[in-house]
Amino acid sequence: MYKIWLSKPHMSGYENAYVVDALTNNWVSPYGNNITEFENALIEYYGTDGIALTTTGTAAIHLSLILKGISVNDEVIVPTLNFAGCVNPILYQKAKPIFIDSDAENWNINVDLVREIVKEKKAKNSKLKAIIGVDLFGIPCYIDKLREIADEYGLYLIQDAADAIGTKYKGKLAGTTGDLGIVSFNGNKIITTSGGGALICKTREEADKARYYSNQARNNTLNYEHAEVGYNYMMSNILAGIGLGQMSVLSDRLGSRKKIYDRYRTELECSELQFHTDTADQQPNNWLSTLIVNTGESSNATRTKLTSALSESGIESRPFWKPMHLQQAYSSFEYYGSKVAENLFNIGLCLPSSSSLTVDEQTEVIQIIKHSL
Ligand SMILES: *Cc1c(COP(=O)(O)O)cnc(C)c1O
Repeated sequence: MYKIWLSKPHMSGYENAYVVDALTNNWVSPYGNNITEFENALIEYYGTDGIALTTTGTAAIHLSLILKGISVNDEVIVPTLNFAGCVNPILYQKAKPIFIDSDAENWNINVDLVREIVKEKKAKNSKLKAIIGVDLFGIPCYIDKLREIADEYGLYLIQDAADAIGTKYKGKLAGTTGDLGIVSFNGNKIITTSGGGALICKTREEADKARYYSNQARNNTLNYEHAEVGYNYMMSNILAGIGLGQMSVLSDRLGSRKKIYDRYRTELECSELQFHTDTADQQPNNWLSTLIVNTGESSNATRTKLTSALSESGIESRPFWKPMHLQQAYSSFEYYGSKVAENLFNIGLCLPSSSSLTVDEQTEVIQIIKHSL
């Protein structure tokens, strides 16, 4: 058990009334006012016509692939520097992830490399069907470039904004540029329903279709007719109540995360510790404060020294996620790149970033890092 976590849930108090309402009125299934209101809050926030709430962000990604008809042996381009929750649903569909390296500046998927690979694959008549853009750690990827490529080559674009609620790129909210977008309300994300997710759809009909697959693909008949395979992916009305409370403090949470990030950056940035440099177009939600260690040959050892020193004081910090093409479960799939993601994995560090992190706790993290460098 850590005394300071990487990113922990942060209740506001506003959740209680909604949850109690669900319990008191016995609306504890995936139906009820909280569901409707949380969906409406997200419809308004994202300026879209359709939102389907799900049990997890991973479920929302799975539904996005189902809705776009991704199936056996279809190929889906994804960043290799990624979280497994983005990749597993591709395998649930028996489709194939194609792993693409990171952009050294952006850390997200290298869009020039995507263009090259798409062009090559299209020339060979491959079964390439979709690109998933991921806004890792809440840093916006170059989603407009992915949109251009997808449009030019007739591919679907899905935006995995699981980390990126509130992130903007060129003024547009993460999750709204793809044909479908997904967000996660997992306990470690910027706002949470304990576990949950949402599929951001373009139309109400599309959201209805997602709900149908989330509800065992049952037709509206007394004896439950099933023409297709379905899933049990609907969010509970109790959890939607937590989400409603959290929505009302989203801008506070974004403000807190930014303050923490700014303080870390002011106090820690030096030639040995480099933070992500955002372009004028990038407005991250600072979900995790991340940096890369630059002490030359010893960068990896330095990073390990920092995580160990923090851990010895009961503070959780983590390396970047291990690239997917290096994971045993996915190593048989294609990978294109030149070890940029691998390098980031070796030298990247995620610092404690909870919106509830106190000033004193921040000071402790900063001092341990300064002393250990
Ligand atoms: C958290 C996360 C997911 C999965 O979300 P869950 O709600 O935990 O299922 C997917 N993709 C990325 C990039 C994530 O960080």
